[in-house]
Amino acid sequence: METKDKQLVVVGAGHAGSELAVAARQQGWAGRIVLLGDEPAWPYHRPPLSKAWLAGKVDAEGLLLRATSVYEGAQVDLHRGVRMERIDRANQRLELADGSALAYDALALCTGGRPRPLTCAGLVPGEQPTNLHYLRNMADAEGIRAQLRPGARVVIIGGGYVGLEVAASARGLGAEVVLLELQPRVLARVAGAEVSAFYEGVHRAAGVDLRTGVEVEAVELHQGAIRAVLCRGGTRVPCDLVVAGLGMLLNTEAAQAAGLAEADGIRVDELSRTRDPQVMAAGDCTLQFSGVYGRELRIESVPNALEQARAAASWLGGQPKPNRAVPWFWSDQYDLKLQMAGLSQGHDRCVLRGDPASRSFSAFYLAGDRLLAMDAINRPADFMQAKRALAQPCGVDAERLADASQPLKEILQPVAVI
Ligand SMILES: Cc1cc2nc3c(=O)[nH]c(=O)nc-3n(C[C@H](O)[C@H](O)[C@H](O)COP(=O)(O)OP(=O)(O)OC[C@H]3O[C@@H](n4cnc5c(N)ncnc54)[C@H](O)[C@@H]3O)c2cc1C
Repeated sequence: METKDKQLVVVGAGHAGSELAVAARQQGWAGRIVLLGDEPAWPYHRPPLSKAWLAGKVDAEGLLLRATSVYEGAQVDLHRGVRMERIDRANQRLELADGSALAYDALALCTGGRPRPLTCAGLVPGEQPTNLHYLRNMADAEGIRAQLRPGARVVIIGGGYVGLEVAASARGLGAEVVLLELQPRVLARVAGAEVSAFYEGVHRAAGVDLRTGVEVEAVELHQGAIRAVLCRGGTRVPCDLVVAGLGMLLNTEAAQAAGLAEADGIRVDELSRTRDPQVMAAGDCTLQFSGVYGRELRIESVPNALEQARAAASWLGGQPKPNRAVPWFWSDQYDLKLQMAGLSQGHDRCVLRGDPASRSFSAFYLAGDRLLAMDAINRPADFMQAKRALAQPCGVDAERLADASQPLKEILQPVAVI
């Protein structure tokens, strides 16, 4: 497509949107590029909000995804604090919250998600107690940090990555932490039982009162703030603040109204194209078809947002390069760097390499002799090798894999798929 007189509008200035706008220019989009974001801040790294930023180890400047001059250099018109409300596909225009309209020739939706709200007795929808926090953006993180003082009694609801990372940061700041998880183990949705058990042990050793299989039934309010969380069975947990990390809801209402999304996301292919040839989507808001896995996937991670954005940019620039990247993710808690590669769903066993007691080990997820995924805890070399190997079907000898004295490189072997 000749793009000189065309306008690309990217909605959502997070990881996917910021990357897509700049990469589209680098890959040859010659026309105007408008990047719309509803947050007031320049595009920033979201992961540190629960880690280094919350712990006070990095400032707002250090969070920026790229220097502000990069947008100018790439001739990307970044409009901050501007919200897109409606997509008019028939006329190729967007309606914005300030009442104005914006035409597009190509549109990229990178709207991410927002925290799933806590619902329980005592809470009125739309009325948020002053000490109940969620964590998705800078404003949320500032709200938490303002109340997170040494000795503060924090209740964290949800033992997923965000909840566990906030727990680690809060302990580092000297807060008293109770973490409540509904499932019988933390990280139940994303990691194997061995890795969950390891992290539960680490948090307890760090002084977190971690309770699993606990259902929050109600909150007790006093003067607009939660003063205790009430659990099924009658346990009352007094608190100064509550952080709920319950996963996210997709920001796809406008896409759904325009017929571009289902309840589980905006459906895209490996080039991040939706069913409308003028519209692309990337990042957390998408449901992507993966040729590598032969099925549709929802992936919430920075590397995925970047890969999908780059694939969209390659399409826009006229040199399509489908996204076939191995999904990966990381999490930092205390002195531990967890890195995950692949998708473990469907594994029938988990093989450990290294000793969890040494705080450096890897968990490999297998289906038969086929490697599906792995988690590396303070073992970056294992992670790098496994991630590379997972780019194609990979077989392993489980016995050798468990023997850390045997070179991993020789154990990870490509296998032919019939
Ligand atoms: C606390 C926290 C820690 C995390 N840690 C990790 C980690 O360690 N590793 C990792 O890989 N991932 C991590 N993630 C997940 C990662 O941040 C997301 O996968 C990533 O941000 C997805 O990028 P995105 O561009 O799709 O969405 P986002 O980064 O959420 O960006 C979407 C943007 O679109 C804006 N927007 C939405 N609707 C509109 C609209 N209608 N008009 C204008 N703008 C709109 C939103 O306000 C937002 O700024 C973490 C997430 C959180 C919240």
